[in-house]
Amino acid sequence: MSQVAAIPGRLLDLALPARCPGCGQEGPPICASCAPTLDARLELPGGVPIGLPSDVPAPLLQLEWCAPFGGMVRRALHELKYSGETRLAGPLGEAVARRWRRVGAGGDVLVPVPVHADRARRRGYDQAELIARAAGRALGLPCAPILERTRATIAQFDLDRSTRATNVRGAFSLREGVQRVHLAGRWIVLVDDVVTTGATLSACAEPLLAAGAIGVSAITVARER
Ligand SMILES: [Zn+2]
Repeated sequence: MSQVAAIPGRLLDLALPARCPGCGQEGPPICASCAPTLDARLELPGGVPIGLPSDVPAPLLQLEWCAPFGGMVRRALHELKYSGETRLAGPLGEAVARRWRRVGAGGDVLVPVPVHADRARRRGYDQAELIARAAGRALGLPCAPILERTRATIAQFDLDRSTRATNVRGAFSLREGVQRVHLAGRWIVLVDDVVTTGATLSACAEPLLAAGAIGVSAITVARER
C-alpha cells in the first residue's frame, strides 16, 4: 500500500471505537473476555519450558514472553504492526509488564528492538517502541529507544533457523549520540513484539554489552515456535 493511501485509513480507524482483535466487539482495544489470553503464561514459572527448541540464546540472561503466537494475540500484533491500530500497544505493553513483574530477575531500562528507520518512518511509529513505552509506564521503568537497525534485514519470517542468525548479526548498533557512559552498569531489558529463535534479540544485545551494559534480558508479547 502506498504511503498516501495508508494515511487516511489510519486516521479513519482511530476515529472509530477500537474493535477487539479476538471477537470483533467494539470498545476497549482488547475486550475483557478476550484479555486473559494475553496472560496465558502469567502463572508459569520463568524460563523456557521443555519442548521448545532452544534454551535462552546467548548472550541473553533471560528470555520471557506473555503468550503463544496465535489466535487473538497474533491478530492483535498484526493489527498493531500493519493496520495502524496503535491503541493495542497499551494492553500489550501492560501484559509484558505483568509477566516481567512476575518472573523478571532484574533490569533497570527497557530498550525496544528497532525496526529499520525507513520502515518506521513509512509506518509513522515503531510497534516495539510503543509496547515498551506502555510496559515501562506500568513497571515504573524508563524506556530508552537507543538502538537502531543499521542495515535492512530480510523478514526473519522468510528464513530458516540457521539463516536467521546470520541475517541479523551485526544489524544493530547504538543510535548516534547515545553515550556509552549511560549504559555502563545498566541491566537492559529488550522488548519486542514476537520472538522465534531469539536471533534478533541476541544481535541487539551485542552492542549494548559492548557499550558497558552489565546484562541484557528480553521479553516479548508472544513466542512463535
Ligand atoms: Zn474480545
